[in-house]
Amino acid sequence: MSSSAPGIRPPELDKSLVSVQGVGPRVYAKLQKLGLETVEDGLYHLPLRYEDRRQLKTISQLTDGCQEIFVATVLASGEITTARSRRRIFEVIVGDNSGKLSLKWFRYRKPWLEKRFPVGQKAVFIGEVKRFGATREVHHPDADLINSDGDLDQLLRNDPLNFGRILPVYPLTEGLSQKQSRKIWFQLINDYAGYATSPLPVSIRRKYRLLDLAEALQQIHWPSNDTNLERLAKGQDRPRHSLVFDEFFFLELGLALKRAGVELEAGIAFKFTHKYTIPLNKLLPFKLTDAQRRVLGEIKRDMMSPQPMHRLLQGDVGSGKTLVALMSALIAIENEAQVAVVAPTEILAEQHYRTFKTWLDQLGLSTCLLQGSMTAAAKRDVVEQIARGEVDLIVGTHAVLQDAVEFKKLGLGIIDEQHRFGVRQRSVLRHKGTNPDILVMTATPIPRTLSMTLYGDLAVSVIDQLPPGRKPVTTRLCGQNRHRQLYPQLRKQLEQGRQIYIVYPLVEESEKSDLQAATVAAETLATEIFPDYRVGLLHGRMKTAEKDAVMDAFRSGELQLLVATTVIEVGVDVPNATVMVIEHADRFGLSQLHQLRGRVGRGAEQSFCFLVPSENYSADAARRLKVMVDTNDGFLVAEADLEIRGPGDFLGTRQAGLPEFRVANLVKDIRILEAARQEAFNYIEQTKMLTTADALPVSQELQRRWGGRLELAAIG
Ligand code: ADP
Ligand code: MG
Repeated sequence: MSSSAPGIRPPELDKSLVSVQGVGPRVYAKLQKLGLETVEDGLYHLPLRYEDRRQLKTISQLTDGCQEIFVATVLASGEITTARSRRRIFEVIVGDNSGKLSLKWFRYRKPWLEKRFPVGQKAVFIGEVKRFGATREVHHPDADLINSDGDLDQLLRNDPLNFGRILPVYPLTEGLSQKQSRKIWFQLINDYAGYATSPLPVSIRRKYRLLDLAEALQQIHWPSNDTNLERLAKGQDRPRHSLVFDEFFFLELGLALKRAGVELEAGIAFKFTHKYTIPLNKLLPFKLTDAQRRVLGEIKRDMMSPQPMHRLLQGDVGSGKTLVALMSALIAIENEAQVAVVAPTEILAEQHYRTFKTWLDQLGLSTCLLQGSMTAAAKRDVVEQIARGEVDLIVGTHAVLQDAVEFKKLGLGIIDEQHRFGVRQRSVLRHKGTNPDILVMTATPIPRTLSMTLYGDLAVSVIDQLPPGRKPVTTRLCGQNRHRQLYPQLRKQLEQGRQIYIVYPLVEESEKSDLQAATVAAETLATEIFPDYRVGLLHGRMKTAEKDAVMDAFRSGELQLLVATTVIEVGVDVPNATVMVIEHADRFGLSQLHQLRGRVGRGAEQSFCFLVPSENYSADAARRLKVMVDTNDGFLVAEADLEIRGPGDFLGTRQAGLPEFRVANLVKDIRILEAARQEAFNYIEQTKMLTTADALPVSQELQRRWGGRLELAAIG
């Protein structure tokens, strides 16, 4: 083992795993299947769990339900047939001074077992001890035979990798056994763990009692015999803590650096005399909620300050984010700057366009819509108007982000439903002006500690209140018999003059058949089930004009039922629609289900959401559906989602431009994250954004770990 000076990355870490003794081309191919190529990959391939083989136990000391290891002698062996199922089983009765135990095999080669376990044979056995009434059994145990001279000590001495210690249990892949893995990782750790270094500042390391990387890796793979097993099993041991802190520290350092960098740039200090917001307030048929007002205050402060705003506006579906966006837009417009509002789908862009235009028209301001499906001539026209500064507010889809679109003076960029956009697109918007203010809006409520990580360089505002008079949506799970359960309830709503969405999932690989399902359903509903009502069909393959026509007809109440694929998922707002039926509800993710349900419950009437799952669905799907039935609270839904899916999927860390974690777990390790965040932000301040001499190794390591992603992180 050797180690190197801090800050200089030892080339050994980047070596291929083939350089490890015992790893030939064939084993290497298997390791690749686990995603492991370099020595460093291998070092961070951590045990799944551990097995306590520090001591051999006697039979009476064995604990039911535990993986145990013990020495015993064969007392009897042979094939038996179970009385009830007439199944053949091979049984070996073993014993020691303290008691007896039955070993059982259900799949076996009889001659091999007979030869291996003659009466009197002594062996070390490993396996899970199960209790059945008065007897205890081990099924398919591992066994190491002890020779007739009975030298147990020698056996244990000969195999220090598998006995007498706490053993790592690695994630396996086909053709790679646990024993083989242990051998490889023993060698790997021995030869290479020493090269792992991190320039984590010594003062921080001391303060949190962190081990250096080499020692932490060494101990996490091969824990010493005085390790506290309970803490180890819970992942609360010092080696793991040290690795997690290290990962989080560099993550937060990157975020802190970006935040500090943004603050250094000169943005626009908007002046504000309520020129348009007071008139708008007078026009509005309702009062802003307290939450909207508070959030608006935060945005106002940002916009008036000379630094560019980077703010995330979080609020459950229906909480009234659009109005906050409108108010913010008016501040920019009052300062003769333009505003861009970008939405993920054409339907949503059009709806926003409609909303914004309604109010802006009344204030004597101009609005335009820009989207990909417009004719080239129409697009050119709009693009020219934008460039000449003739429009105050531009609503659009990705089309707004194209190179051809240049603003006279972009003052504020608003991105709606930001989780649907990649990081790159946000960055593009930012560069369409000189440090314009940026407001990103999301309805995906992310637990606070997580949003801190994901949007670490964004200030966060939360609308935690719905407009008054909203009744929680009643959610019910329906069976397959729609005629008995579902249709009568729908008819009742239709009779009361309400409108209904019926949503079908669109899964890429079977797009055609799903589309067909929606089409057929619309047909059946229109002709057989509700012939007395009008049914519309909306899906992603329709032309924009057709989609518009259908949406308009639904909005105006001309259509009472709208059968749709998930194109209506985000943002659509038709208050008279009070019923959402979700077909194949098991195929949707939780946040998607919640978004869909958010389409109803927008007026004063009681709304309903009916979930109709496929005939067979998974246990996870059942958990999702139960969460939907149990709660309306987007925050609780998000937490459950996080629990079911795990943080990686939930956050879509790839998309957010964050590095993937090798050890850390955003849910389990939130305390460590908070500490690491604080230290990182302090460190950035102390070292004047990593420009002091002693910060050089840290800065180099940061660059290495984040690579190009530092540019793109969070808002870009
Ligand atoms: P979301 O946050 O999901 O984007 P919207 O901005 O679409 O929500 O608002 C949902 C509905 O609530 C809209 O019809 C909007 O006009 C209405 N709304 C917004 N603010 C208020 C308020 N303060 N009082 C009453 N209704 C409101
Ligand atoms: Mg919205």
